[in-house]
Amino acid sequence: MNHAIRVHENGGPEKMIWEEVPLPDPKPGEVLIRQKAVGLNYIDVYFRTGLYKAPLPTGIGMEGAGDVEAVGDGVTDLKVGDRVAYAGSIGAYSEARCAPADRVVKIPEGIDYTTAAAMMLQGMTAQFLVKRTWPVKAGETILVHAAAGGVGSIVVQWAKALGATVIGVVSTPEKAALIKGLGADHALLTNENIPARVKEITGGAMLPVVYDSVGKDTFLTSLDCLRPFGLLISYGNASGPVTTDLGVLAAKGSLYVTRPTLNTYTAKREDLVATANDLFEVVKSGKVKINVNQTFALKDAAKAHIALESRATTGSTVLLP
Ligand code: NDP
Repeated sequence: MNHAIRVHENGGPEKMIWEEVPLPDPKPGEVLIRQKAVGLNYIDVYFRTGLYKAPLPTGIGMEGAGDVEAVGDGVTDLKVGDRVAYAGSIGAYSEARCAPADRVVKIPEGIDYTTAAAMMLQGMTAQFLVKRTWPVKAGETILVHAAAGGVGSIVVQWAKALGATVIGVVSTPEKAALIKGLGADHALLTNENIPARVKEITGGAMLPVVYDSVGKDTFLTSLDCLRPFGLLISYGNASGPVTTDLGVLAAKGSLYVTRPTLNTYTAKREDLVATANDLFEVVKSGKVKINVNQTFALKDAAKAHIALESRATTGSTVLLP
């Protein structure tokens, strides 16, 4: 017996239907995973609404952790019983599912299933953002939007561990208190004049880099926080996709913009393993905590989406099969 959330047509949270589905047999190169925990990510909303396309009907969800229950032909480095986790393979909202073995990593001792399911996608994203897209250096000041969110709260902690001064932007005083607790040096509210506050904080120097997952609503504000030649890392669209003309980059000081994805940064198996290992290390060291602040039953995924989209969640959210 196996159950999964399926989407037959794009739309609101109510379009996610809990159904009985066949238990799949792993194809060559795949493993069957009995899932103990499933991570909730904003990208799940994009696939549900149709902003990102998947052929319908589709499973949904990108991230999970559990035990290997069967292995397909040609899989050599995973065996039945291994504790594993993955990110980036659609169809995670399921009690059991097959995933390509080359996208799956073993969970090290000391990390439980819930933490593993919460950290793979958001944590590996934070890893490439602070280590590769813009390697954060001690002494520099950076700004992180949606700083109390899943990716945001990991970026805040990791950038602090690397020695940066961190400015976080959040929508409520409660979230401001939360990110201060994570180590943010400055917690700004979305209704403040963010560039003016950045100017004050940096003594007019402005920032080398801004991490922006909000998209449409914050794009121009983010550019206004940068120094000449600064980098805007636009890595998400929680408020909708950015559509601004590129001429604005010239007008605001020969700025750079990148739109990175975890898929590109972990496309090669060796990059996936290195990224995951770096994440496991920083979590085991205690420098970064994965805060699972909400859990829902997997069959209640719609409730989790409503919470995420209404900005009611902080940190990571996990769905339990
Ligand atoms: P979050 O936990 O950060 O949730 C989204 C947060 O965005 C909200 O809590 C809210 O924080 C903020 N927000 C601002 N405007 C809106 C809006 N109009 N509607 C809803 N939320 C809004 O989600 P995740 O950590 O899962 O993902 C964060 C972002 O990172 C997403 O945009 C996601 O697509 C992106 N991402 C990109 C990846 C990549 O490879 N490029 C990989 C992983 C994630 P507040 O109330 O404080 O404003």
